[in-house]
Amino acid sequence: MHDLIIIGAGPGGYVAAIRAAQLGMKVALIEREELGGTCLNHGCIPTKALYKNAQVLSYFKKSETFGIHLDGGFSLDMDLVQQRKQSVVKTLVSGVGQLLKTNGVTVIKGEARILAPGRVEVTAADGSNSTVEAARILIATGSDSAMPPVPGMDLEGVITSREALALSSVPKRIVIVGGGVIGIEFAGIFKEFGAEVTVVEFMPAILPLMDRDIAKRLARTLTKQRGIRILVDTRVERVEKASDGSLVASIAAKDSTEQIACDCVLVATGRVSNVKGLGLDELGVKYDRRGVKVDENYETNVKGIYAIGDVTGRVMLAHVASEEGVVAVERMMGHDRALNYDLIPAAVFTFPDVATVGLTEEQLVERNIEYRVGKSMYAGNGKALTMNDAEGIVKVLASPDSSALYGVHILGPNASDTITEAVAAMNGMFTLEEISRVVHGHPTLSEAFAEAVNSLIGCAIHTPNARK
Ligand code: FAD
Repeated sequence: MHDLIIIGAGPGGYVAAIRAAQLGMKVALIEREELGGTCLNHGCIPTKALYKNAQVLSYFKKSETFGIHLDGGFSLDMDLVQQRKQSVVKTLVSGVGQLLKTNGVTVIKGEARILAPGRVEVTAADGSNSTVEAARILIATGSDSAMPPVPGMDLEGVITSREALALSSVPKRIVIVGGGVIGIEFAGIFKEFGAEVTVVEFMPAILPLMDRDIAKRLARTLTKQRGIRILVDTRVERVEKASDGSLVASIAAKDSTEQIACDCVLVATGRVSNVKGLGLDELGVKYDRRGVKVDENYETNVKGIYAIGDVTGRVMLAHVASEEGVVAVERMMGHDRALNYDLIPAAVFTFPDVATVGLTEEQLVERNIEYRVGKSMYAGNGKALTMNDAEGIVKVLASPDSSALYGVHILGPNASDTITEAVAAMNGMFTLEEISRVVHGHPTLSEAFAEAVNSLIGCAIHTPNARK
C-alpha cells in the first residue's frame, strides 16, 4: 500500500513524486511512455535544442558581420541535428530516472485507469494488468495537441509539434496553423533551417495573449528580418492533396481567399487535456473542455483524487505543472503554500526571444488601472550590441507613483533569463527603487531591465526617462 499514486511522469508528476517522497510519503509513479513527459520528450527541451541549432545557423548566415569567411560554405545535416536533440533528451530523461530512484519512488510502466478512489489499474505494454493502491491519487496526465475541425487534418504531411520535432528532413514549404507560442517557435526554427514559412493566425495578432506592443514588434521582426510570412485575421478552411502529392492549404481572410501550396502543414492550435481512458466519467470526476476541475488543494470533486499540470488546463507551462505538483503534495501534508497565478513567467524562444510576467498594457486598460510605461531599447545595450543581437525592448508597466510593478514584457536576446529579476521583484522582493539600487554588472543584458526601471523613477542615464 502506497500513500500516493501519481499518474503521469511529466514535469508535474515526477516533481510531485520527488517532493512527496522528501516529505515522507511512499509514492508510486505510473507512466505509459517515457519519464519526463511532454516537456522533456516532445516539448520544451527538444524544441529548445532545435532552436539552438537555428540560432547557430543564423550566426553562420551572418558570419561576415563577425569577420568570419566561411569559404567552404555550410550545410545542415538533419540526422546529426536529431542525434544532438535526442542526446540532450536522453540525458535529462535518465537524470529523472536516477532522481526518482534516489528518492525511493516506485516507477511503474503502463497505462493507468482509476478504478475507485485509492485504486488504480495499470496495463503494461504486454497487456498484463496489475492493481496499485494508495490513500490518495494525483492525476498528472498532461495534454496533447488539439486538432481543429478542418477538413484534411488526417492527410499525410499534416503534422503536430510531436512529429515536427522528429522530422528527418526540412520541408521546403511549411504552413503553420496557429500563431501562438508553439507555432511561432517552430516558424523561427524552420525558417532558419531553410524552409519557406507561412503562419496563419485566426486572431488579429500573433501571440494573442501577450502584450500587443511586444507581439507586434516581434511580428514585424519575423516578417521583415527573417522573411516569415505571417497572416493574421485569417483561418485555414481546408487542406487537400495536390496531384503531385504535395499539400494545398485553403485560407480565408475577411475579404480574400488564397490557396497555399506546401509540403507540410503543422497544426499548432492549442492543447487538450489528457483525460481519455482514465475512468473519470465512471467515478464522476468533474472536467470540462479545458480540463479537470480542482479546488485550492488541487483536489477534484471526488475526495482523495487530485489533479495538477496541463490536465487541469489552467496554465499549460512546465514550470507551472512542477510548482502545482509541489504545492499539491505540500498541502496534502498540511503545509500552507499556494501558487500566485498572476506572477507566472512565460517565454517564447524565437528571433528575438519574448518573455513576460504580470499584466499586459491591454489588461491594465481593460481593468481601468492607471499606469506608466518605462522602456529601454536593446539598441542601447552594450552586451546586446557585442552579440550583434540588439533588436528589442524592455517594457515595464508600473503604478503612476512607481510604488507597484504591474508587468514586465521583454523582446530581446535571452529575454527568458532576464525576466527572472522582474519575477523576483514582482513577488514582492524589491521595489522599483530597490531594483534601481541593485548594481547590475556590465556589460550584461540585465542592464536593459534596470534602465527601463530607472526610466520610470527618473534616473535613467542611457535612455530617455518616462513621462510623468
Ligand atoms: P506532461 O508533460 O504532458 O506529462 C504527462 C505524462 O502523463 C506523459 O508522459 C504521458 O505519457 C503520461 N500519461 C498520460 N495519460 C496516462 C495514463 N493514463 N497512464 C499513464 N501515463 C499517462 N512549457 C514551458 O514551460 N516551456 C517551454 O518552452 C515549453 N515548450 C513546449 C513546446 C512544445 C512543442 C509543447 C508541446 C509544449 C511545450 N511546453 C512548454 C508545455 C509543457 O511541455 C507542458 O506544460 C508540460 O509538459 C506539462 O506537464 P505535465 O506534467 O502536466 O504533463
